[in-house]
Amino acid sequence: MQTIHDVVVIGSGAGGGTVTKVLADLGISVLLMEAGPMLTMSDLKEHVWPYLVPHRGAGEKGQGYTAPRSGFTFSATFGGSQLEGEPYTVAEGSDFSWFRSRILGGRTNHYGRVTLRFADYDFNPKSRDGLGFNWPITYKDLSPYYEKAERFIGITGTVEGIRSAPDGIFQPPAALKAHEILVQRACAKLGIRAVASRQAVITTPVNGRPPCHYCGQCGRGCMTASNYASSYVQIFPAMKTGRVQVIANAMARELITDEGGKVTAVGYVDKATGEDKRVSCRTVVLAASACESARLLLNSKAPRHPQGLANSSGVVGRYLMDTVGSSLSARVPALSGMPHYNSDGYGSHLYVPWWNWNNKGLNFPRGYHIEVGGGYGMPGIGSFSGIVNRHEGYGLKMKQAVRDEYGTTIGFSGRGEMIPNEHSFCEIDPDVKDRWGIPVLRFHWRWSDHELNQVRHMQQTFRAILESLGGQIQTPTASQPATRVPISRGGAIIHEVGTVRMGDDRRTSVLNKYCQAHDVKNLFVADGAPFVSNPDKNPTHTIIALAWRTAEYLAEEMRKGNV
Ligand SMILES: Cc1cc2nc3c(=O)[nH]c(=O)nc-3n(C[C@H](O)[C@H](O)[C@H](O)COP(=O)(O)OP(=O)(O)OC[C@H]3O[C@@H](n4cnc5c(N)ncnc54)[C@H](O)[C@@H]3O)c2cc1C
Ligand code: SF4
Repeated sequence: MQTIHDVVVIGSGAGGGTVTKVLADLGISVLLMEAGPMLTMSDLKEHVWPYLVPHRGAGEKGQGYTAPRSGFTFSATFGGSQLEGEPYTVAEGSDFSWFRSRILGGRTNHYGRVTLRFADYDFNPKSRDGLGFNWPITYKDLSPYYEKAERFIGITGTVEGIRSAPDGIFQPPAALKAHEILVQRACAKLGIRAVASRQAVITTPVNGRPPCHYCGQCGRGCMTASNYASSYVQIFPAMKTGRVQVIANAMARELITDEGGKVTAVGYVDKATGEDKRVSCRTVVLAASACESARLLLNSKAPRHPQGLANSSGVVGRYLMDTVGSSLSARVPALSGMPHYNSDGYGSHLYVPWWNWNNKGLNFPRGYHIEVGGGYGMPGIGSFSGIVNRHEGYGLKMKQAVRDEYGTTIGFSGRGEMIPNEHSFCEIDPDVKDRWGIPVLRFHWRWSDHELNQVRHMQQTFRAILESLGGQIQTPTASQPATRVPISRGGAIIHEVGTVRMGDDRRTSVLNKYCQAHDVKNLFVADGAPFVSNPDKNPTHTIIALAWRTAEYLAEEMRKGNV
């Protein structure tokens, strides 16, 4: 007799890992399907030197020197913006890149771990400025789940009382580095507060996980599980309960429904054999990442729902958002000639929360925060190209120039809110299929003046801070030509959200306030897809908090026999 699983979770990133752990802790059995292979801790490349990586991380044929790389080869990500046999297309006139990972834990194995709560006002943006949409929940609804996540995962930070950056339960942060102290002082002169960064890293032991040993390689995993990845922080412990079964290399193709419209099974491709298989389920949680989840729903067509599953509103795939990105760096003479010291830490230890949350005197809505780069980090491919371009000669002379300038650059990355618009969405490409015959996504993308004006403001602010600490501004990079507003490509910040949004009105939203489909009551979504807006805060903390809340709700509905 075929097993009917109580809950099938599709995708094991931030959302899927959280749902799996929370349900397992509540005594519920979970079948977790993951399109990539199982992760083992020895897959992590945290302590591998560049010279041990093929081509020193430049990628095959040295593409890191000659063309944009699709992944981060030295960073050892399990994925990139191009996956073999899994294309996507971009509509004419649009520019979009889609970074995907295929492994247990998804992109959380190597994400930046900037971990920020939304502000109270982020949940009702439309009421404040008339743009976009309000969320069906408030800060109060989500705050207990931010707190649960912070206690369990561990987030660095300091209590600051800044409205745009609500405080949480924090791990003690690491000390600021020399360049960060300069930035903090320069910001203070301009009336802007710069505070300890909020990173998903532990500096004291948590649940048997040892604290960070400051190797500075968080982007390449963490062998001691001192930072967060859903794989080693949530899924491995959940598997130990005996209530979690993982099917790796299982690429979900479609959700299958019965006459009553409930999901009864998930059809998937066993990537090891190429065979089409099915698992039966009582409930399903989609957590394949915002765009993959939309793709699965759109590909799950039946005579009862020809527009795709849970899509009576027609909103699935619509209102795709990314974060607005722009950057600027400067060489800072004050940092020249300093003794070189190990400034690795856990990435950046300082960040600048949005300071003008009343939006006084601005020609754009909402806001942005600033992430700060610099210090004596591990050199990577192209790290010294600026120095080489600035200095004549080679040999000892060039080596000396590199030593003199190493660590003297400070870089700012703005991360801002995009207003959802009708021109940014994903849909099924009618002509293109992946290697398993699954129709792929086609992306449409457009920034509006709201985002372009915000980037202009970012650039003015970066310039003001950098100049006030004596920085010599560096010319924009090739990816940000000086001839246009230096805004990131759609998708480039890898914060895509909003494609299966939640709301109170089933005519304009796909999910209710618990991320349960309006049309299909045993279907839930637990990744970035339910987002209604995309505030400047990096999305993963909110994905985790929402997924936690959804899992608890699902458990309760199962207990009551409602799903
Ligand atoms: C380099 C980098 C830096 C980042 N920095 C930050 C940061 O500092 N802060 C922040 O908040 N966010 C950051 N992000 C974004 C962050 O990684 C994502 O927000 C987060 O991982 C999303 O979680 P998710 O569960 O929605 O999806 P993912 O983490 O993408 O996981 C989805 C999983 O689903 C699987 N899957 C997909 N399709 C299927 C299918 N059909 N069947 C079965 N399984 C499937 C995938 O293989 C994957 O494992 C960064 C991302 C990258 C790549
Ligand atoms: S810096 Fe800390 S958290 Fe990051 S990989 Fe190294 S030990 Fe792990």
